[in-house]
Amino acid sequence: MERRELPVEGWRKIVHFRDDDAGLNAIIAVHDATLGPGCGGCRIFPYDSFEAGLEDVKNLSLGMTHKNALGGIPFGGGKAVIFADPRTDKTPDLLRAFARAVDSMEGLYYTAEDSGVTEEDLALIRSVTPYAAGMVKDGIGGNPSPFTARGVWRGVQAAARYKMKADSLDGARVAILGVGAVGMDLARLIHEEGGELIVADVNEAAVRQACERFGAEAVAPADAVAADVDIFSPCALGGSINAETVGRLKAGVVAGAANNQLKTPDMDEALRARDVLYAPDYVINAAGVISVGLEILGQWTAEEMTRRIDKIGDTLSDIFARADAEDRPTGAVADAMAREVIERARRAA
Ligand code: NAD
Repeated sequence: MERRELPVEGWRKIVHFRDDDAGLNAIIAVHDATLGPGCGGCRIFPYDSFEAGLEDVKNLSLGMTHKNALGGIPFGGGKAVIFADPRTDKTPDLLRAFARAVDSMEGLYYTAEDSGVTEEDLALIRSVTPYAAGMVKDGIGGNPSPFTARGVWRGVQAAARYKMKADSLDGARVAILGVGAVGMDLARLIHEEGGELIVADVNEAAVRQACERFGAEAVAPADAVAADVDIFSPCALGGSINAETVGRLKAGVVAGAANNQLKTPDMDEALRARDVLYAPDYVINAAGVISVGLEILGQWTAEEMTRRIDKIGDTLSDIFARADAEDRPTGAVADAMAREVIERARRAA
């Protein structure tokens, strides 16, 4: 295997791996390891160029630094990308070669699932290296979606408390864009609390199910962002808050599970300027990495998971209050708070 370090300012370590026999072309990036080893998923994607993959793994690993810091787990930010099409190029040889690459980082990086990587793939990787997590074992860990949904629900409650002075979601109107694994479970939790739901999804069967189970009203996906509701909850793909949609929002809160909800960084300020309270995506959807972190630490129990997930609401409440006090957008405040957690740890070391 060829192994080439790429010195990039601001990143702890970035390594490019090639194993032509196994078809592996991958980059592992550790952004910051102050709090602990870099931890974050591996994405398999047919990037157009080496530069595109490098840019992605840099951004993703930086994001994991912030996410893990505010998730309260002692891990830094790490991520891996494999240049391949997961539908056609993924072979056991490639996964084993990737596992050897992870192993060669000697514990500086723990890998987990991201798009293109399944739980079975991870089990194979784990058979080669101990530095992989996110598998169900003895009832520990496993499918993160129910945890993520609970964390988002806690975040939605915190936002409603802050914005609407509401003790519960009883009577709150919530539009969920994307009723998949997370969105459907979130719909259930909100419905059980007495919330009124509007749902949208390209999957008509999922929409039908949400309408039947939770008395939700259906709208077209393009209309969800403009629904006349208190809370807009993006739970499909990223980018739903953009220059075109931000002006159409009627909700006073944006709080959902999707990654990268803001298409461009300036949307953070655009939401604030419109008096829309935004729950930063990487804070509200952190339950999956919290589960992985506890699994690595050997501290995973259902009770501990519930306790940690419920803290997501408290963290968001702190972010909302500080954003108001400093007259800054919530996303910028979250990033600053993550950097402070790391700085405190650096000074204490
Ligand atoms: P999922 O694939 O189960 O559900 C996504 C849903 O969105 C599907 O029902 C799909 O039909 C729908 N959808 C896709 N494109 C759409 C469009 N253009 N318009 C309307 N609906 C559309 O995924 P999930 O696991 O529920 O994750 C949802 C989001 O949350 C993703 O952005 C994911 O990255 C993020 N997230 C998930 C987790 C987790 O634990 N699953 C953790 C962190 C972040």
